[in-house]
Amino acid sequence: MESGGLKPMDAEQLRENAHKMVDFIADYYKSIENFPVLSQVQPGYLHNLIPDSAPHHPESLQNVLDDIQEKILPGVTHWQSPNYFAYYPSNSSVAGFLGEMLSAGLNIVGFSWITSPAATELEMIVLDWLAKLLKLPEDFLSSGQGGGVIQGTASEAVLVVLLAARDNALKRVGKNSLEKLVVYASDQTHSALQKACQIGGIHPQNFRVLKTDSSTNYSLSPDSLAEAISRDLTIGLIPFFLCATVGTTSSTAVDPLLALGNIAKSNGMWFHVDAAYAGSACICPEYRQYIDGVEEADSFNMNAHKWFLTNFDCSALWVKDRNTLIQSLSTNPEFLKNKASQANMVVDYKDWQIPLGRRFRSLKLWMVLRLYGLENLQGYIRNHIQLAKHFEGLVAQDLRFEVVTPRIFSLVCFRLLPPHNDEDHGNKLNHKLLDDINSTGKIFISHTVLSGKYILRFAVGAPLTEWRHVNAAWEVMQDKASALLARLSVE
Ligand code: PLP
Repeated sequence: MESGGLKPMDAEQLRENAHKMVDFIADYYKSIENFPVLSQVQPGYLHNLIPDSAPHHPESLQNVLDDIQEKILPGVTHWQSPNYFAYYPSNSSVAGFLGEMLSAGLNIVGFSWITSPAATELEMIVLDWLAKLLKLPEDFLSSGQGGGVIQGTASEAVLVVLLAARDNALKRVGKNSLEKLVVYASDQTHSALQKACQIGGIHPQNFRVLKTDSSTNYSLSPDSLAEAISRDLTIGLIPFFLCATVGTTSSTAVDPLLALGNIAKSNGMWFHVDAAYAGSACICPEYRQYIDGVEEADSFNMNAHKWFLTNFDCSALWVKDRNTLIQSLSTNPEFLKNKASQANMVVDYKDWQIPLGRRFRSLKLWMVLRLYGLENLQGYIRNHIQLAKHFEGLVAQDLRFEVVTPRIFSLVCFRLLPPHNDEDHGNKLNHKLLDDINSTGKIFISHTVLSGKYILRFAVGAPLTEWRHVNAAWEVMQDKASALLARLSVE
């Protein structure tokens, strides 16, 4: 590119270069199966491949693309590979990509309504659409006291509602009572809640992590919640926040929302539901039952960027009472004052989130909903769940393995059975098996620990995954298990 008289946004140059970039990305998707799914580079690998300082003179796009091919892609773990089965998925799609492209293209910063009315208004409309697909209670719609907002992540979502709940509780019990406020969750709740408590100034000893076990399939027992609350009340503490999960990170456990919500309500607590992964499935009537009881919740969150074809990031959060959130997070400096905001005629999303600036993320979700439609989206979810069910069947047929927790959505938790019932040995064996599997680069799976058992997680949900990939993945796992067990029997 020319150095003199820089034209950083020339329409024709954009057209030409963006076409090249789209070609590059389309070719990437065509050849994605050729890469090792889990990047096989060593820490610091890039240091010697990239110059120590930025260039003085412009370089060509082709040179940069060559570097991406040779130096960057080897250091990429391919989340969009059909052979990616780790953690939870983080979906990309043509529709999501187009929305992302448009958002980058317009590059607005929509913190107040006035800074781009369409960004605020489309976000409200699209989140109302999604709330209706999920059959969320009407209180969550923007037509009443509530409404939806797109956060970057589920972690930000739980943080903002925790802050709102904290301030609301302090208003009730007195602002000097912060150290008495207690948060409740299960030992399966995502660590995002712990981080929110740390940021929110909740006393570390007032974070109740209630134990779960296989007797409830790792869901939170209402009795154990009620007991913990009653103990805390007896010693003068103030229960104020409960986080339940639908589809826990380790094993997709589903907390009983109705029973938990009733307990939270009768104790004047804020009830947050984290359905970051499994929320997407609830657009299908047959899975909607898993969020029955959401009527009792004050806030509900699902990550459209996980399993809903919306490119990262897009975490949808709904609250029943937007004013609580706004009272906690609103600021009103002179330089942001404007007629529409002052007259209270508009939503200013800056007051629903941590940062000021925000992207036009609703474009992505809007594209996904419009270009695919509900029926296709339901089919997409159902297909992944069928694939996971198929995988579960394959595991069950191999007597060397066991399925550890019942599969509900598209995650299968399984392990090699410990030889001679020696759990310690079993844990080491499964850890080794995981490393052996992932170092092939053919597939990528992850692990968790439940009741002291080291467990392998097979999460179906990448947009390109088909039956053949699941079958091939199982072959890799069986081969590696056979090799590992054969080595053991020789030792
Ligand atoms: N909650 C659940 C149930 C999750 O599974 C995850 C991530 O996998 C999170 C929260 C955190 O997600 P985020 O990265 O959007 O903060």
